[in-house]
Parts: sequence; C-alpha cells; structure tokens
Amino acid sequence: MASELEPEVQGLDRTFLECSAEETAGKWLQATDLTREVYQHLAHYVPRIYCRGPNPFPQKEDMLAQHVLLGPMEWYLCGEDPEFGFPKLEQANKPSHLCGRVFKVGEPTYSCRDCAVDPTCVLCMECFLGSIHRDHRYRMTTSGGGGFCDCGDTEAWKEGPYCQKHELNTSEIEEEEDPLVRLSEDVIARTYNIFAIMFRYAVEILTWEKENELPADLKMVEKSDTYYCMLFNDEVHTYEQVIYTLQKAVNCTQKEAIGFATTVDRDGRRSVRYGDFQYCEQAKSVIVRNTSRQTKPLKVQVMHSSLVAHQNFGLKLLSWLGSIIGYSDGLRRILCQVGLQEGPDGENSSLVDRLMLSDSKLWKGARSVYHQLFMSSLLMDLKYKKLFAVRFAKNYQQLQRDFMDDDHERAVSVTALSVQLFTAPTLARMLITEENLMTIIIKTFMDHLRHRDGQGRFQFERYTALQAFKFRRVQSLILDLKYVLISRPAVWSDELRHKFLEGFDAFLELLKCMQGMDPITRQVGQHIEMEPEWEAAFTLQMKLTHIISMVQDWCASDEKVLIEAYKKCLGVLMQCHGGFTDGEQPITLSICGHSVETIRYCVSQEKVSIHLPVSRLLAGLHVLLSRSEVAYKFPELLPLSELSPPMLIEHPLRCLVLCAQVHAGMWRRNGFSLVNQIYYYHNVKCRREMFDKDIMMLQTGVSMMDPNHFLMIMLSRFELYQIFSTPDYGKRFSSEITHKDVIQQNNTLIEEMLYLIIMLVGERFIPGVGQVNATEEIKREIIHQLSIKPMAHSELVKSLPEDENKETGMENVIETVAHFKKPGLTGRGMYELKPECAKEFNLYFYHFSRAEQSKAEEAQRKLRRQNREDTALPPPVLPPFCPLFASLVNILQSDVMLCIMGTILQWAVEHNGYAWSESMLQRVLHLIGMALQEEKQHLENAMEEHVVTFTFTQKISKPGEAPNNSPSILAMLETLQNAPYLEVHKDMIRWILKTFNAIKKIRESSPTSPVAETEGTIMEESSRDKDKAERKRKAEIARLRREKIMAQMSEMQRHFIDENKELFQQTLELDGSSSAVLDSGPVVSGTTFTALGPAQTQVSEHRQFVTCILCQEEQEVKVESKAMVLAAFVQRSTVLSKNRSKFIQDPEKYDPLFMHPDLSCGTHTGSCGHIMHAHCWQRYFDSVQNKEQRRQQRLRLHMSYDVENGEFLCPLCECLSNTVIPLLLPPRNIFSSRLNFSDQPNLTQWIRIISQQIKALQSLRKEENASIPASSENSKNMEEVELPQGFRPDFHPQNPYSENIKEMLTTFGTATYKVGLKVHPNEEDPRVPIMCWGSCAYTIQSIERILSDEDKPLFGPLPCRLDDCLRSLTRFAAAHWTVASLLVVQRHFCKLFASLVPNDSHDDVPCILDIDMFHLLVSLVLAFPALQCQDFSGISLGTGDLHIFHLVTMAHIVQILLTSCTEENGMDQENLTGEEELATLTLYKILHQCTGSALKEIPSGWHLWRSVRAGIMPFLKCSALFFHYLNGVPAPSDIQVSGASHFEHLCNYLSLPTNLICLFQENSEIMNSLIESWCRNNEVKQYLEGERDAVSYPRESNKLIDLPEDYSSLINQASNFSCPKSGGDKSRAPTLCLVCGTLLCSQSYCCQTELEGEDVGACTAHTYSCGSGAGIFLRVRECQVLFLAGKTKGCFYSPPYLDDYGETDQGLRRGNPLHLCRDRFKKIQKLWHQHSITEEIGHAQEANQTLVGIDWQHL
Ligand SMILES: [Zn+2]
Ligand SMILES: [Zn+2]
Ligand SMILES: [Zn+2]
Ligand SMILES: [Zn+2]
Ligand SMILES: [Zn+2]
Ligand SMILES: [Zn+2]
Ligand SMILES: [Zn+2]
Repeated sequence: MASELEPEVQGLDRTFLECSAEETAGKWLQATDLTREVYQHLAHYVPRIYCRGPNPFPQKEDMLAQHVLLGPMEWYLCGEDPEFGFPKLEQANKPSHLCGRVFKVGEPTYSCRDCAVDPTCVLCMECFLGSIHRDHRYRMTTSGGGGFCDCGDTEAWKEGPYCQKHELNTSEIEEEEDPLVRLSEDVIARTYNIFAIMFRYAVEILTWEKENELPADLKMVEKSDTYYCMLFNDEVHTYEQVIYTLQKAVNCTQKEAIGFATTVDRDGRRSVRYGDFQYCEQAKSVIVRNTSRQTKPLKVQVMHSSLVAHQNFGLKLLSWLGSIIGYSDGLRRILCQVGLQEGPDGENSSLVDRLMLSDSKLWKGARSVYHQLFMSSLLMDLKYKKLFAVRFAKNYQQLQRDFMDDDHERAVSVTALSVQLFTAPTLARMLITEENLMTIIIKTFMDHLRHRDGQGRFQFERYTALQAFKFRRVQSLILDLKYVLISRPAVWSDELRHKFLEGFDAFLELLKCMQGMDPITRQVGQHIEMEPEWEAAFTLQMKLTHIISMVQDWCASDEKVLIEAYKKCLGVLMQCHGGFTDGEQPITLSICGHSVETIRYCVSQEKVSIHLPVSRLLAGLHVLLSRSEVAYKFPELLPLSELSPPMLIEHPLRCLVLCAQVHAGMWRRNGFSLVNQIYYYHNVKCRREMFDKDIMMLQTGVSMMDPNHFLMIMLSRFELYQIFSTPDYGKRFSSEITHKDVIQQNNTLIEEMLYLIIMLVGERFIPGVGQVNATEEIKREIIHQLSIKPMAHSELVKSLPEDENKETGMENVIETVAHFKKPGLTGRGMYELKPECAKEFNLYFYHFSRAEQSKAEEAQRKLRRQNREDTALPPPVLPPFCPLFASLVNILQSDVMLCIMGTILQWAVEHNGYAWSESMLQRVLHLIGMALQEEKQHLENAMEEHVVTFTFTQKISKPGEAPNNSPSILAMLETLQNAPYLEVHKDMIRWILKTFNAIKKIRESSPTSPVAETEGTIMEESSRDKDKAERKRKAEIARLRREKIMAQMSEMQRHFIDENKELFQQTLELDGSSSAVLDSGPVVSGTTFTALGPAQTQVSEHRQFVTCILCQEEQEVKVESKAMVLAAFVQRSTVLSKNRSKFIQDPEKYDPLFMHPDLSCGTHTGSCGHIMHAHCWQRYFDSVQNKEQRRQQRLRLHMSYDVENGEFLCPLCECLSNTVIPLLLPPRNIFSSRLNFSDQPNLTQWIRIISQQIKALQSLRKEENASIPASSENSKNMEEVELPQGFRPDFHPQNPYSENIKEMLTTFGTATYKVGLKVHPNEEDPRVPIMCWGSCAYTIQSIERILSDEDKPLFGPLPCRLDDCLRSLTRFAAAHWTVASLLVVQRHFCKLFASLVPNDSHDDVPCILDIDMFHLLVSLVLAFPALQCQDFSGISLGTGDLHIFHLVTMAHIVQILLTSCTEENGMDQENLTGEEELATLTLYKILHQCTGSALKEIPSGWHLWRSVRAGIMPFLKCSALFFHYLNGVPAPSDIQVSGASHFEHLCNYLSLPTNLICLFQENSEIMNSLIESWCRNNEVKQYLEGERDAVSYPRESNKLIDLPEDYSSLINQASNFSCPKSGGDKSRAPTLCLVCGTLLCSQSYCCQTELEGEDVGACTAHTYSCGSGAGIFLRVRECQVLFLAGKTKGCFYSPPYLDDYGETDQGLRRGNPLHLCRDRFKKIQKLWHQHSITEEIGHAQEANQTLVGIDWQHL
C-alpha cells in the first residue's frame, strides 16, 4: 500500500537528517542578524514538518521539530551539546523553594482549614502528605485544572509553609538573590537572544489574524494550494448539533464526526477538511448555513496550511520554553524579562501584554498553553510576579471587557489568573495602593451593569437573555473583589487608608444603586399578571454578602478607617433617604400621655423594597463602632449626633412590617416571587447582611430614642395604632366587624409585632450589641439548631452562616454543647444537644423559621415532660448589652409597652369578648418573663450603692389609673393562672409569679439580711415540692386510666374470642401443626439422618397449604391440583466467576452441558418467596403488560422494569421478577413408589448395568437413525439389540402432574433458558433442561459461598424466602424432565455419564479438570430418572443417586489431588499415623503412576489429606443442600449451628465414609481403570507439564477489589488515568469497576462503543464482559457508587467512604477527609454476592422516578 505521498515524505526526511543542529547553531552564532537568520530557518522548515495532510501525526512532527527546529536552539543556548549543557545548568541552579506543581483536571488538592490564609491556598498530594497539615483539619477537593501548589509560599500559610521536600532548600535562602548570578555572561546573552526571538515569533504567529497570509518575514517562495477548513469551539452549540452538522458538511461517518467534535471541544479547534481552497470553502459554507438558524453560526475559517503549521509550531515552542526554564531559575528570569519588556509600540506592547489582550480571540488550546507558561514562569518568580500583577491590573478593564464578549468559560480565560495574583496579601495591598485596584474592580463591575431605573438604581425587570448571560459573567468580578479583600491588613499605611476609602466610596456607589431596588406595591383586587423578576437582585445580594462582611472586617481593623467609613456611609444613606418626609403631612400619635410626630406611611399601600444594603452596612459599622475603644471612652468623637433615629429605623421597619404582612396573608395576590424574596431575606445564605442587619439597625435607632415614641411609630407602621390607642377598640373591633379574615390578619400582625419587640430586646449575641464574643454567638446558634432535633454535621453546617472562607466556626464549640453519636450501617452520625444547654433555649430565637419554632417548642416541652419537669419555657438569662445599646431594655418597662401588655392580658381575661389569640398571650408572657429576668439580673449584679432603675415589678403591680381602673398586670396574671382555657400556659404563668415573688424578696431584703433569702428559697423549694406532688398525682391518675382502658380492651377481646371460638381453635391447631413439622421426628442431637440412597431416612411430607397473595384463597400443594407459583427473578451471573475474560460468544451454538470449574457464566435464580395461583399470576401479568404497553406508547418512558422481557414487580413486595417457579412436592417420592429391593447392586455392578443400558439405547438410536423410513421395523430392531435384563426402552412413563403444573414447568424452564443463554425462547430446545439443572446447581453454590463467607451454619436459620426458593428450585429442576423429551434427557445423561465412565460413542467430553463436579452431580442425578423409568430390574432411584454421588465425589477427589499444590514439608513426613493419610498417600501414588510420573513427587500424606478435606468441603456442603431440598430429609441438628467444619456430620448425612479414600478402596476394581482413563487424558498431561492452567480447590470466594483507606489516594489514582481512546486525555468521569478494578472513562463520547446495535458508555459496555450485564462501580470524582443492570437500569448507591462525622459526601462538595468504612463496603459486597444488585436498582427506581429517566447506558 505505497501511497503517493510516501516517496516525498522519505525524500524530505533525508533533507531533514542532513540538517545538523550543531551546524545550524554554529551558523546562528556567527550571524549578524540573528532574527532574520532564525526566521528564514523557520520559514523554510516549519511548513515542511507540520500540516502535511488531513490528519496530524504528532509523534513524527515532534520528532522532526526536535531535530530540525528546537535542537539548534538548544545548542545555541548552551553553546555545546545540550545533553551536557542542560545538566550543567541544572546543577548550578539553586531551585526555588516553591513547589508550583500545576494541577491536572481532577487531581486532588488539599487546603488546611487551620493554617491556610484563605481557601484558595492549596497543596498537591505529595506536598500535603509531607506537611504538618496532614494532622490538621484539612479539606480535600478535586482541581478543575489550572492553578498550582502553594507549597513554599510563605504568604499562603500561617504555619508550616514548606513540606519536607521543599524545606530542604530553605535553609540557605536569601530571598533577594538574583538567580542570574549563577549563569555565565555568555549563557545569559545567548539565552536572552534566542528567547527574545522565539517568544516574539510565537506571540506573533498565534495572534496573527489573516487566514490566508503569513507575516512578511515568514513568507514562502512558492505558495501551495493546500488549506484547512478549521472548526472552532463555542459554548453555544451542543455536541449533537456539531456532530450532525459535520456529517452533512464534510461527509464523514458519525464516528469521525464524534472525533472531530471531541477535539474541538477539548482543544478549541480542529481542521475538519484538508484540500484546495475551493474544497474547504464549500465545507465552510455548509457548516455556517447549518448552524446559523437560531444562534450565531459556528466559527469556521479556511486557513492556509503553512499558517496552521506555524501556529502549531508556535504552541510547541511555548511548551518548549516552559520546559527549558525548568532547568534553571536564571533562565526563567530571563524569559520573564523578555516577556515583560516593553515593545516598540510603548504601553501594552510587551509580549505578555499582547498575549493577554488577545486572549479572547485565541482558541482554547492556545490559551491553555500560554497560561501554563505564565504560571511556570511569571508566577514562579517573585520579582516578576509583582511586575506581572501590575500589568494585569493595568489591563484589568480591557481584559474584563474582552471576557464579557467571549463565550468561553472563565476557566479558560486569562482573567482566571486573578486568583493567583490577588490572593497574595502583599500583592493585593500593593495593587490597591499603587494601582487603585479595588476601585477599578468595582467601577468595571458597575460599567457592565448599566440597566438603571429613574432613581439610578439597578433594574433587572425586563431583562433580556443576553443581559442575563452577561450578568452571570460579570459576577466573576465580585470574586476578584473577594480575592483582593480576603486577607485583612495587620498594619495600615496612610496610602492604603486613602485608597481603601476611595474603594469604599466606589463600593457605596454600588450599594446605592441597590438601595431600594425592585420596589413592590401590594396588589389588591386582582392577582398580579406576571411574576416580577427578583432572582437577579437576590443573586447580586448573595454574591455581595461576603464582600460586605469583608469590607466591614477591613474597617474594623483600623479605627480611623472605621470612623471615616461610617461618616461616608451615613452620608450616602442620607442622600438615599434624606428627603423621606418630603410631601408628607406629619401626623401626631399619642398613647398614655406620650406623643410623637411621624409621617403618614402605610406599607400596605405604598412602595416598599427589601433591598437596603446601605442602611444595613451602616448598621454593621455602628455595631463595630460600639465594640471599639472610642465608643466606650470618647463617644463624643463619633458622628452620633448627626444621626436621626427616626430616619434610621424607617426603612428596616418597613421591611419587617412587609414580612409580617406577608405572613398575615395580606400580600397573597403578589404571587410567589414575593414569598421567595421573604424566604431568602431570612435564609442562612442572606440573613447576615439582610434580616440580621435590619434588626441591628432597629436596635441602633431605638437605643437613641424614647422607647414610647418608638413603640408608637411601630404600632403605626404595623397599622395597629388604632387598636391600642383607643380604649376598648378591640372589643368594638371584634363585635362590629364580622369579617373573619381581618380579625385573623390583625391577630397575626399583633403577634408579629410582639415577636419583633422580643427580638429587639433579646437578640444581643452579636459582639458589639451585647457583651459577648464570637464563640458565644455561634454556640447559641448551634444550641438552637439542636433544640429542634439532633443533626448530622453537614445538616448543622448548612444551617449556620459560612464566612468567606467557608467556615462556620462550629468545630471549636460543638464539643461544649453537643454529644456525638456514631452512625450504624446506614444513616449518619448525629450531634445531640447536651442536657445542660437546654436552659439557654429561647423559644423566640430570631433565626427559627415558623416550622422550626414549633418543632423546637414541641421537642423542648417533650424533653421537660420526660424529665418530669414543668413545661414552661421561660426566656433564658441574657448577657448585658454594650453601653451604646444599654437603653434598649427600657422598652420592656415603658408605658406604651405596659399598655400593650395590659390590653392583651385584659382580652385574655375577658376571653369571650375580644379577638385575641393564644400565641399573642404567649408572647406577652414571654416579654414579661424577659422583663423579670432583666430586673433580677440587675438586682443581682447591682453594686451596693447603685439604685436599680429597672422597676418592672413595681410597675406591673400598680392597677390602671382612672377612668378605666383596669386591674394591674399582676392581678390579671393571677386571674389567668386558674383559667381553664389556658391549661398550656399555666406552667409559664406560675413561673412568672414565682419569679415575681423572688424579685420582691430580693428587693425587700437589704443585702445584710440573708434570712429573707433563705426564706425565698424555702418558699421556692416548697412550691417545687408542691409541683412535684401535683405531677405525681397526675401521673398516677393517668396510670389508672390506662389500666382501665386495657382491662376494657381485654374484656372485649375475650368476648370476641368466645364468639369466634371455632376460628381461634383452628388457628391454634394450625400453629401447632406447623411447628410440629419442625419438631417431628427424632431431632434429638446425635440421631443420624441420611439424605440419599437406599438407606435414606424416610420422611412423610406433611400436607402443605399455601395462600395466594392475589386472591387470598388457600390451596393445598398437590400433584394434580392447580399450580401455585413463586415470583422469581432469573439472571445471568459472574459472581462466582474465576475467569472474567470469558463470556458466551455465540449463544446460539453454546453448549452448556458441562460447566467449567471457573464458573465463568452461571444462571442464578432468586425469589421474594411470595406465592400466587398460576392463573392469578397470569391474569396479573397480562394486565401489567397491557397497561405498560399503553403507557409506554403514550409517554415513551423507560420503566423500572421491562415488560417486554417478561419482567414484572411482585404484587406484594414490588420485588423485580421475570418469571415464576411452580411449587411442587418432593418429586422423588412420586417416582420411587416402585419397590425398593433389598439387594441393590454395588457401584461396580451398577456402573456395568448402566453402561449396558446406555449401550443398548445408543445402538437403538443408531439403528433408528439408519432406518428412519422403515418405522415398522422398529420393534423388531429392538428385539435384535440385546437388552439388559428388565430394561424396557419402549416404555414411556405417565406424567403425574396436572396440565396446569406442566405448563408452569415449561414456563419457568423456558425463562431460565432464555435469560441464561440470552436467546429467544424455545421450549423445544434440547438445552432447556440443562439450563434448569445448571441454575439449580449455580444457585446452591452461590448460597453455599455466602454462608461460608459469613461463617454461618449450613442449615442454620435461612431466611424464609431463600429456603422457599431453594426448595422450589431444586424440586422444579428435578421434575422438569417430565415435560422435556425423554430422548433428549437420556442423551444428556449418557454424555454426562461418559465424562466419568468412558464410552466409545462419546469422545468429545471434556477432561475432568474442566468439569465443575457439583454441576455434573446435579445434572446426572436430575437426568437419571429419564433412564431409570425404563428400568424394571428393581434398581431403585435411590441406589442410582448414591452411586452417582460416590462416583462424582471420587472424581472430585482425583481432581483435587491433581491440582493440589501442597508444598513439601519434611517435618510432617514422620507423623504418618492417620489411616486417612496413609490411604490418601496410596491413592496419590496410583495417580502418580497413571500420569506417567508427571505428577509431582509424593509429598506428605498429612498435607494431601488436609488439602482433600479442605478442597472437597464446598462440594459436600452444596451436595448436602441439594439432597436436603431434593428429598426433604431434615438436616441433623449438629449442622444447624455454626462452629467447626462438620466434616463428619456431613459425611454421615451424605452416606459417605469419613475416610473418603475408602470409596476408592471399596471399589478398587473399577476405580483403578477409571482413574487411569481420567489421567490418561491429554489435557491432564498438558496441565501437569505446566502447559495449561486449571482451577484448584477449594475455590476462593470472589471479593470486590480492595479499596484504599484514604479516599484521596483513589482520586489521585483516577487523576492519573487517561482516556484509553483519545490518546492521553484526562478522563472526565473516571469510574472504577469494583468487581475487577478496571478504571473506565465513563459518560463520555470518546469511549462509547456499540453494543447490540446501540451506542453505550464505557460502564455499560464493561458490565457485559465483566458482570454479564450487571455492574458495581465507583464514580471517583463524585464519590458515588453506581449500580447498573442491563442498558436501561441503574441507580446510585451511597459510597463506603465516610468523613469523621459519619457522613458520606456524594459529589465531594464538602471536602472533608474521607475514610473507608469497611462495614458499608461489606454490605455492598453482600448485595453483590446475593445477586441483589438488580433488585436494589428496582427498589431505588420505584422509590425515585427521576432515576428512571436517566440514560444509564451512556454512563
Ligand atoms: Zn506541591
Ligand atoms: Zn512541597
Ligand atoms: Zn495546617
Ligand atoms: Zn389466587
Ligand atoms: Zn414478593
Ligand atoms: Zn469489571
Ligand atoms: Zn474516553
């Protein structure tokens, strides 16, 4: 196949070879104009090496390029052979102490939560393992590619910046040393020359924009007409679109198209056609036409081949530069210098600038190559990193603008480098001060959000898709801002203050655009027509949340900055709301002799906005001020006097009123967008800078106001002023207005208002508001979360606000407030609140949602009841306020407050006259409780001479003044204490009164009279005793009541039994009889049972009654009755396979008669054990089928089960099934009714008889075949053949079963055949009976394995369903021959028999090394009746069974001895004492002879016997199970308990001598010749000569692969894995087969293969070879177990890896270190061993319908 191109290529090769690198370099050294010289070289050679045809030949190109192009450069640089030059450079180098390893996609990275300066500081695995952080709290993530290891960067780590490896170099570092001093002048000069030329060349060619022309100095003499049609990547078109278009445009196959598309997606471009200009143009126009319909078309260019060649070399060159500078830090510095040197065009003309600025025009592949180069050069050199950062900042705006117009993800944009530059604290600070970076970022951000409303606020309404897209991209700027601010300065310079405040101004401008955005008006009458857009505004708010917090942190670190910022913020707030009273008529409010002026404003009628970032920022700064020293030493220095408290509180109050009104149902017509906004306003993601700050702002305002004034304004904003200012308004209101909704509404509003007051006074856990620290704040959050219920770690983390470093601070305090409870096999570890923390519970904790509040209330009351305490939930004792907020407590004792409390209590006292609610009362009680706690605290903490001005107790003791003369609050409480309708609140009222008395006592007692004190406690004590007594009495009453009810119930029951006496007796009897089955017979220990043979223990089977789960009718299992069936699931299995590379190639021709001992493909049958009538099942199945077919047609859905394949769900337990097994009586009893003669033949005789019978049959068959036309002669022929005595081959036995049962026998047989071989059903196929026997044998073997692995006794208590399944399956297999052709079964028997007793007409049987003996035993025993039924000589079936069993056992022993590999052990040679050992040795000697001494020299008898015993155990156990279920002989009780191996018991049960070798000795006559025939086989010889393998015994159980303890080593392993099909590319979804350990490239086009005419992913394809359709995988990136079965079924399963908190991390989102949980892994293995994977998938899919829709076959 010599192509035309070849001679040319070879010719070229020669000219290349002549080009010597040394000579070229020498020429260059002499050159006067080096640039021209080099360019000429490149112009000549590059197009001759690269791009010579339609497809690239990377290896050849690289080889030539190295030789002709790069080689000379290396020579030039070194001035000698680079083979010596580079190592010299390397030696002279003092390598940097930075690791700088660039991460591959999917590589694990580690960050230390204790020591990393911010979460972007990460280590590579190697550095991490060698660092101190491995013992710290760390977080693990997988890299998205890009980014590098920060090991060695002292700025990145608070502690331990070096790992062991990189620490080596740090001892002698002098930071400032110039790496150039280690290079010679010559090298520096040459490097400089060559780097400058090459770097310029690469930049020039990559940024070249003409498609059909080259730069002047690279032009070629003659230009060929060879072009490429180059397709570029975009993020608009889908894979499918591209593939489809390509097939049309360039006329390629789908496979090729997929290949193109994959490369385009990965590299950003790929040529799809090569040829002359016209040819390429044509393809281009088709592509453009085809993709331009909805969107902008795919980008395609027709490029000249020489241009593409130069560009390819340009990229090669950049990577080359990257590797060359790895030799020496000096070379790296030179490259940096070259890159950043300003070019001829001044500003922005350096090579680095040029690359950055054309970033968005470059294709993906080019970008990633030069980004990599930047990372390994500029970012690794501390000096140049700074200079580069400056360039980056200077270009920042332009780069961002380009990025906005580009459609590629940020990860492939140069803007993503910001994380490397901005997160370095010194760089960030330098950029802020020198480049004003903070301002630039914010301004750039504002520039891109131009959409504003009339007031200059952002407007997201009527937002186009394009704007939305831009909005998403612009959010990355916020990320940059975050990087810049992430580390707070410890020291401030004036310059930094200045620039930060400038940035703060810009930031305020930004917030100003948000203040009041998206305002809403209450909709009345009609529902809103369109849900307004709200998400964009909230996204912005959410993204800015951390920034706002960080800005506050910066301010807090410098007092000057803080005060300045505070002033600025206040100024902006005044600009926003300065004129808020304009145009409004002031109104005057007055209650209780207090009056205040305010504006008229109704939230329910006017515009209101939930976005108030400026006032919230001010609130934050105010609290920071309150913490500062100034506030508490010189408050006069603060700009407090400029504040107008009514203005401060106005907007936050409106916002809170809005929430209350929404809650009261007043805004229903505004739709869901509002509900969502309110939700996020309170949500943990936003509340820190929204709801929390509004509360703080109110606290700030109120602390500067007369509380009475505030309360009146609040009443007015809540639109409740009327109700409380007008005496008896409430009464009127309830009687006059009958509108229930309005009453309800007002009640809710009152409740909400009271709640707000509780929050304003009670929420003092923010440092600065109350005298607390951050730890106490977080502790309180946790206590309240855990008051709701115990929580898992991740749940708790989710409920707590995270800071910008993703920390909640929870770990530091959790131990002090909670106990950890470890998880079991399922579920998660849980934290439980410590009991002593319950006293800090506040029912009105402000972060509770309503649902959480009521759950917490219920939980806490229940807890108190359990502890036999009263159920009052009084307010907790609170920390004191900070001085600035101290006056807040006065709200509680203000006149208006007392009036509100009094009014509500009054309503409750006269409870029928008013509209009021219990929650209202509960809140009032809570407020009173708070006031009492406050007063008590004040009294207890008061200095001796201090007068406590908080006098709540006095105020509530005073009755109301004339004219209403209402009773005092105290009096009303006393009244309510006995109100029957307030049972729930009784405990609380009692608590209030008790506390009141205690306070009175303190007040009355001067500090010098402790007597009163004790009296008080005694009082309290006695009241507590009284409480206790009361409670005890109640408990007693409850107990009596319970007993009475119980007595009544049992009385009723007795009546019932009396009436239905007969019925009950029956059931009792039934119970008795069923237990009698188990107890009947001598189950006394020591009694021996025999499971088979003439001496078989005779058991009379009890009559068996079963109930159909469908029609509920009972039915006896009988031979002639209607069939009863068990739902069953048949599947192919490789669970026991010892050879996974083997699978059935051509099922039509496959002969399953002999199972190979590698058990490579078996058929497993399982059942849920549910019994139905055959006809009931048939009816059920038909209806399911009809329904599903209709549904599938209509919905085109995948179902969790495949009806067309006969699958259905068990009607009772929904277990996946695909057929049914008929229930049968022990089939042997039916046929062995013929007499058992006492003198049965021995083995030798029996074999002779059977051989004769077989011979007779065979000659009959032969003659039959020979004389088919002369059928009349048949009988004559029969006589001619000499028939053994009593053998009547013409006899055809009657089938004893009913038609119905026969039908079911066929049904199940056919199903087993169909599934086991994966063929079309054919009940006539001769392989049907074989498959039935095989399935029986295989299922028993797999169960024996499970029992052994779990160390469970063979006949221990098996689960019912398993027991039923095995029994039915065995009996079915034994009965199946009755519905098969007698001739076929006889033929099978003959052939099976021939494998042990050779026979002339069967020379194609396998050698005994290649037969699984248990399968052989089952088949022989179950096929035997077909022969025996024609034998009237008196040989019983039992005799046959016994001899078959002995024969197979002996064959197995020989098999074991032949394959045993016992090591010689001289020590034991002497102890040849045991009879068994001697016998074994004798047998071994015989084998040794028969094999012509090929068998290994005689080892010790002890070893031999031991290996026989061990090797044969599984076989004996399986046989015991088999005969047990076949003949129904109960198992001896000894085998029912676990413990020793029960070898003796098994032998007894199976009618074997305990010295198994005796079998040979007893039948030595025939056995010697048989052994000889077995050993003579050629295969055996080959095996013994080491030419082939054989399975040895016992076979070890298959296990899932070993998984590493630490999950990250799996991630690491997977990150090194590359897709096997696309040449070294990293796989995106590496997936590990847990069965065989293969790593696969899942969920990707590249690794799709065709399977049965469909494209399937790598996992599905793998299951077909590895697990015959079923598979267990670990998706490494997701940390998720995947179960697959067939093409359509799959589910995800929880992985066996847990973090320290006992939780899995599916999707690796949390990043906590994960460790293998062996028990959970064992559970997965057990599912596999039990063949329950498919069932598990079925259940998962039934439970979660979305799983059904997933395209599992593409994984
Ligand atoms: Zn590293
Ligand atoms: Zn390191
Ligand atoms: Zn650490
Ligand atoms: Zn039925
Ligand atoms: Zn079931
Ligand atoms: Zn596998
Ligand atoms: Zn792949």
